[in-house]
Amino acid sequence: MSKQYETVIGLEVHIELATKTKIFCGCSTEFGSAPNTHTCPVCTGMPGSLPVLNKQVVEYAMALGLAANCKITQVCKFDRKNYFYPDNPQNYQISQLYLPIARDGYVEIDTQTGKKKVRIHEMHMEEDAGKLVHDEWDDTSLVDYNRSGVPLVEIVSEPDMRSADEVIAYLEKLRMTAQYLGVSDCKLQEGSMRADVNLSVREVGSETFGTRTEMKNLNSFKAIAHAIEGERQRQIELLEEGKEVIQETRRWDDNKEHSYAMRSKEDAQDYRYFPEPDLVPIVISDEWIAKIKARQPELRPEKLERYKKEFDIPEYDAELITESKKVADLFEATVELCGKPKKAANWIMGDTFRLMKEKGMEPEDLKFSPEHLAKLIEMTDAGTISAAVARKVFEQIFTDDVDPEKYVEENGLKTVNDEGAIKDAVEKVLADNPQAVADYKGGKQKAFGALMGQSMRALKGKADPAAVTKMIKEMLEQ
Ligand code: ADP
Ligand code: ZN
Ligand code: MG
Repeated sequence: MSKQYETVIGLEVHIELATKTKIFCGCSTEFGSAPNTHTCPVCTGMPGSLPVLNKQVVEYAMALGLAANCKITQVCKFDRKNYFYPDNPQNYQISQLYLPIARDGYVEIDTQTGKKKVRIHEMHMEEDAGKLVHDEWDDTSLVDYNRSGVPLVEIVSEPDMRSADEVIAYLEKLRMTAQYLGVSDCKLQEGSMRADVNLSVREVGSETFGTRTEMKNLNSFKAIAHAIEGERQRQIELLEEGKEVIQETRRWDDNKEHSYAMRSKEDAQDYRYFPEPDLVPIVISDEWIAKIKARQPELRPEKLERYKKEFDIPEYDAELITESKKVADLFEATVELCGKPKKAANWIMGDTFRLMKEKGMEPEDLKFSPEHLAKLIEMTDAGTISAAVARKVFEQIFTDDVDPEKYVEENGLKTVNDEGAIKDAVEKVLADNPQAVADYKGGKQKAFGALMGQSMRALKGKADPAAVTKMIKEMLEQ
């Protein structure tokens, strides 16, 4: 291939807001309940029912907009987007077209190619649709309206990204920001964060954009990266063959690693948008914005700054720990209790991350309490338990949040400080291993390790290694 191509990507990201109730009614937003148990006349589109806006949705959207450096639209309103689909009982979706709540922002991303700003065109509020469940055996389709009316913020970026790496960094940044703000849990698998990828290619050096396609149905970062590579290749091949890319919506099938045309790209006109007549415009005062600003929690960049000043831990540790607010909170609470930042960091970056990986857990799934980790650190430092025992106890804390003090007591795991017990164990090991003893006495330092290992094993790892070392040396010198 002689020509060089550049990939141009813009994203439309939907984030489900973590409000307790839906955007226009009092129904619960809880995920995973029995079908159609969180519904009412409003969210099932019954004639004559009227929407009432949930104020929390506006505040969450403002918080997100401000965190992404957007301008808040102080007079904003809702519009009706008309279309028929069985998961949409009103035959329209209440969304924002003309005056979205936030505009003209940016987020900063950091990839191997350096730091860069991705501009946010706008953020708007809208309601989610229900869910169709297709039963192929029965040849029927069922609909669940629990999700109908769950609040969404759609974040539309400018076409500023140039690679899958940048896209993932952008999504991670949005996810982290939303999680830090507490406005969404952003789980791709559960659909509380969804990304549509708009992609075009152009020759390097070209000033104009190529024709784009939009890909839907991407529910993991891996699928997104695959889809970008697949679509990029497909478009380049078309151009190389002298054909044209058609502007359309495509569906990515991650199992087949291929995308399919779903429909030709629709326009705003196709939806016959008009101002939502059942809702009044929202007027956002300067005071209201100031109140939301004052309430914004510490976000990751500020947290990193503070860690640098307050805790004596490497920057690398600080970065890993603050990737998730949940982990950062756990870390800070543990340090608050035990006053040992580096030790708390080590437990988190070592055993916690290892166990999370082994069990395929997300930070949100962590359930052990900082009190128990802090206690474990103190017990280890005080020599109550050995390092080896501490790791075993930590596994119990990690899975069942046990109280380490009780657990150690009940399972007889306290360090053996009893000189008599250590002496008995060492004596036996030396008697059982005359060859190693002779080797050591003959000058082979290595033989010591074997004797040490066996002695510790005989003491079930519960003895203080320093005490055992001392005992072996004393006895060998006799
Ligand atoms: P529409 O109104 O048709 O939905 P928008 O202008 O709202 O189109 O753009 C939708 C998304 O597509 C935005 O995220 C934007 O950044 C992205 N986009 C627009 N043009 C291109 C292009 N040529 N290549 C890649 N992405 C694009
Ligand atoms: Zn309802
Ligand atoms: Mg659009």
